[in-house]
Amino acid sequence: MRVLLADDDLISRAVVKALLSKWGYEVLEVGDGIQAWDILKEKDSPQLVLLDWMMPGIDGLELCRRLRQLDNNTYHYIILLTGRDSKEDIIGGLNAGADDYITKPFMPEELEVRLRVGKRILDLQQSLNEALEVQRYQAQHDLLTGIFNHAKILNILEKELYRARRQNSNLAIIMGDLDHFKKVNDTYGHVAGDAVLAEVARRMKNNIRLYDSVGRYGGEEFLLVLPGCSTEEAIIIANRILESISQEAVMFNSTPIAVTISLGVAMKAVGDEKTTTAELVQLADAALYKAKQNGRNRVEQAAEPSP
Ligand code: GH3
Ligand code: MG
Ligand code: MG
Repeated sequence: MRVLLADDDLISRAVVKALLSKWGYEVLEVGDGIQAWDILKEKDSPQLVLLDWMMPGIDGLELCRRLRQLDNNTYHYIILLTGRDSKEDIIGGLNAGADDYITKPFMPEELEVRLRVGKRILDLQQSLNEALEVQRYQAQHDLLTGIFNHAKILNILEKELYRARRQNSNLAIIMGDLDHFKKVNDTYGHVAGDAVLAEVARRMKNNIRLYDSVGRYGGEEFLLVLPGCSTEEAIIIANRILESISQEAVMFNSTPIAVTISLGVAMKAVGDEKTTTAELVQLADAALYKAKQNGRNRVEQAAEPSP
């Protein structure tokens, strides 16, 4: 683990540095508060911080305050090193944002265990953050296909619709539904069906732009949100997706499984201030229904909502 050691006293710094290195810490050392702040405000700064209270430039207390105001999602565990040991000083140091406090001269063993407490808290915080990250991902993604789930893709649509109104731009959506998918399950089994869904999602992702989004709307239904797209552009994308799915069978355990998809395109045009998310989805759904009616494996567009 990396430690930032800030102390203007050369000898004291050398002693502490030697100890830290002996205990296996990677030490970054600076001789004043200004250099310390330059490092600490960066994103990748060491999270374990040993600060001398009295330093030229910015003192340890002020560094504590600045670090606590810094909002960059990184927690710094701060131990203040100081010769001041009155109750008022301790209260002042902790109040400024320090996590712990060691008065000089100190026993090396004391510093060692206090650092270990800091490391334990930082490790704990990191595993909590990782767990949160996993949870956030799972709350927004469909686990089978890795694309956004129903709630998230609708949330994206809601936001993009709002943005399109504000910027007075187009917004197209595509609703896609695999054709006769029940038959795929009946013929090849549910596991094969799952593999087909994952592969179809992958091909969809490969055929959209970076700022487009695709989500699993339902079982074998997909919703794509295409900001800034006109109906014509969305139809081109929909056809590209259709071809990417129909032209190459999905391989499952060396068995080729041919699938096709029907797609419906709907758009909110420039100047349209009133079409809602639900209405837009309904329009795309109606266009998809038309594609199914007209023979499947095809793209249909919805009548444009009147502005
Ligand atoms: P259509 O062309 O009219 O859309 O016919 P279809 O058979 O695709 O439509 P239907 O709605 O009758 O059937 C959808 C099928 O999709 C039935 C269901 O078992 C299957 N399905 C839904 N979710 C999953 C899934 O997660 N995995 C698998 N393997 N199949 C799924
Ligand atoms: Mg279907
Ligand atoms: Mg369906």
